[in-house]
Amino acid sequence: MNPIVAILIVGGVIFVVNQAAAAVTMGALSPPLNPMIIRDDSQGSGYFGAPRGSRTHQGLDLVCAKGQPVHSPIDGTLNRYASPYADDLRWKGCEITGTGRDLGYTIKLFYMDPQALVGTAVNRGEQLGNCQAISEKYTPAMTNHLHVEVRRGGQLMDPAPLFFGNQPLA
Ligand SMILES: [Zn+2]
Repeated sequence: MNPIVAILIVGGVIFVVNQAAAAVTMGALSPPLNPMIIRDDSQGSGYFGAPRGSRTHQGLDLVCAKGQPVHSPIDGTLNRYASPYADDLRWKGCEITGTGRDLGYTIKLFYMDPQALVGTAVNRGEQLGNCQAISEKYTPAMTNHLHVEVRRGGQLMDPAPLFFGNQPLA
């Protein structure tokens, strides 16, 4: 029996019970944005594994407006602030490490301005900060978005099923 699988099942049930009334999605984790829409524009697809030049996309891009609140997908600790570009520190993010029912998860959120302090315990749904406008760095042809990267037990994974469950993807 894999203990991580057990945690996920329990987490999924708790999510449904607690979030049913306000839920916009039915995945195992809590939605970081409302609404939850996957980016897909002329500059790239927001899906996990989509082409990015010679590499592939390591996360999920969710459409957002500048200033839109970003919520924690997991119960955890704000482990550190994270900068997506070492040479352009205007763009910010943070890393949350899971605790309790979300133990084993590590989630990175990019292109958001974190307001919670490093070391702070956060709960699912709690506001972490606000979306930036990454499209301003590139081109208006890029849909503004939040980049979400999920690891479980250190293993990079597709975030989409964790947020959308079996529902059709928006
Ligand atoms: Zn991305």
